[in-house]
Amino acid sequence: MDALNYGAYVAAQYNSTERTSDIGSPTYNSPPPLELDDEKDKKGKRPGKLVVRFGSPGQASLNNNNTGPMSSPSPTSLGVPDSLAMSLCRPSPEITDIAPAKRRPGRPRKLNPDGSYATNHVPLSNNLRTQQYNRRFFTEHARNLVPELCRHMYKLGWMSGTGGSFTIRQNKQIYITPSGVSKERILPQDLFVLDDHGNLLDCPIQEKRLKMSDNAVVFLAIYSMRNAGSIIHSHSQNAVLVTLIYKEQEFRISNQEMIKGLQKGNSGEHYSNDDTLVIPIIENLPAERDLTQRVTIAMQQYPMSNAVLIRRHGIYVWGDSWQTAKSQAESLDYLFELALKMNKYGIDPAAMPSGELGITD
Ligand code: ZN
Repeated sequence: MDALNYGAYVAAQYNSTERTSDIGSPTYNSPPPLELDDEKDKKGKRPGKLVVRFGSPGQASLNNNNTGPMSSPSPTSLGVPDSLAMSLCRPSPEITDIAPAKRRPGRPRKLNPDGSYATNHVPLSNNLRTQQYNRRFFTEHARNLVPELCRHMYKLGWMSGTGGSFTIRQNKQIYITPSGVSKERILPQDLFVLDDHGNLLDCPIQEKRLKMSDNAVVFLAIYSMRNAGSIIHSHSQNAVLVTLIYKEQEFRISNQEMIKGLQKGNSGEHYSNDDTLVIPIIENLPAERDLTQRVTIAMQQYPMSNAVLIRRHGIYVWGDSWQTAKSQAESLDYLFELALKMNKYGIDPAAMPSGELGITD
């Protein structure tokens, strides 16, 4: 018996009693207990269909083959008037609404508002451990955010191959991506967790043979010097290209609206659109961890910059939260791309506006 017919059966039982009686009355025949037919449901004859059977012996036990509305016990045999019985037994298109829609493969599961189930933002793997992690950690937990944002940055072309890395500091714990893996496939349990002093608090299971990002030392230096909440290390082509166009140690751009998307160091103030944005450029080294000293020197020399470009390599961008780091990284990438296009047209991105319309001559 499906849920609708079970409801009809209960209604019939209630209608067959005196209207003055209530559920607490001894004249009310309480319905037999519901029992989910898990085994039959697992066989997949009608996936998602709620199947029930009566628990007491001697009564009909229904299976998935006869769960149609007309195959359930006739309400007329339960003392229901014919007219009501017809309306109760009439096949209804609504009956199909009882069965939840089939979930398309790979589609994210729905979330409870309290985040006790998997998030809307984090497509779940079929991997059981991943599902456990997603249920254990709420949507905004770094365990879920890091894989989600890595997928976002992969789509932007910032983490192609196994390049780039990402970290979030949350509740005095630093979550860092593993090294040498496809960032768009990282799972919540693949992250390394450090405290503010660099002590390892948690790591992926040994069987996965994952290694912490080589950038971890650089990240710790940035966290320490700038009290950052999140750091993005991107291999964006736009970032690499500007380091080839700007042969000096700085990238400069002036009078662009998107400059307002950047903050002035730790001040919390944003740049104005008529400011000149300056991002330092350091030279690359074979090992990413060896960049720490150059990055820290650049941070000291450019306290108003929340990013450091690495020539022929990419960029580090940070913010006091993952939202700030993400928005600044996206604004910067926009400005890099714009500067490259301006260069193509022979326009100096750092030049002050001139002429009547403010267009550089
Ligand atoms: Zn790198």
